[in-house]
Amino acid sequence: MCTLRDYNSDLQHAVNKKIHLTQNSFGYMLVNMSMIHDYIESLNIQGGTRYRSDCPSCGHKNSFAAFNDGMNIIFKCFHADCNVKGRLRVRLSADPPPLRTRNRYEESDKSLDSFHIPDTFVDISRSAVAMRYMKDVNVFDAYSHRTVRLMYDQRLNRAVFLIRDGSKTVDAVGRTLADVKPKWYRYGKSKQLFTAGDARDAVLVEDCASAASVSHLMTGVAMLGTSLLKEHIVQLKKFDTVYVALDKDATKLGLKTVQTLKPHLNVRMLILEDDLKNMEKEKLNEFIRRKTD
Ligand SMILES: [Zn+2]
Repeated sequence: MCTLRDYNSDLQHAVNKKIHLTQNSFGYMLVNMSMIHDYIESLNIQGGTRYRSDCPSCGHKNSFAAFNDGMNIIFKCFHADCNVKGRLRVRLSADPPPLRTRNRYEESDKSLDSFHIPDTFVDISRSAVAMRYMKDVNVFDAYSHRTVRLMYDQRLNRAVFLIRDGSKTVDAVGRTLADVKPKWYRYGKSKQLFTAGDARDAVLVEDCASAASVSHLMTGVAMLGTSLLKEHIVQLKKFDTVYVALDKDATKLGLKTVQTLKPHLNVRMLILEDDLKNMEKEKLNEFIRRKTD
């Protein structure tokens, strides 16, 4: 599965990144090291705090733990069949500061709505994989019409959707292109929902790709797996009708969302036959028109 060339380049990567490897888990870890490294950095674990999640390598539920002791991030997967384990030096100011470290040390007191586009973001057209992803999930039309602003994060290998508030970029969400968790990663701390389009009716969906894929029909709004906050309700109030898109086997979160919104705005349920971002355009257009007449 792992060629010598991959092995060597991963080893070089580990050396470059000054990752200290535990010897007994050498072979296995190297294959995944750059991925795990990126994953840990993306978590932005503050000094003195612990983080727990599904393992980015074996995928077992809640088996991965990381702790930032101020100097190092010590990480380990507790699943018996997984030997992901190691230590990652917290970069100090002598090192070129990557995005998350800069946030950690310099931007912690800034107001939450100040968001700077990281310099690891480039135009999405510079990544063929990111462009193909956007085509596969029916986002390309919205991109061509400049309904959505897309970028590519070279460092985390993510296709990035910028979150805008008027003409201002207030946050960004990146979809992994390497099957790394989390699938969707939010770069900033804004409470702004991702929206695509400017129609008076909105459809509330799970992710940015689905939101963008319907934006020629209605304003697509992405929940990104969170529960609704007060701030979200305020943002949704401006729409005439908000359709909450639910799977056929409606999730608790979806139903709860409908209940939460009902007292505040005109909300309707939209039971999906298929994931919006995977529907062919004609079928999608027909489906939305039929359901929202
Ligand atoms: Zn594991």
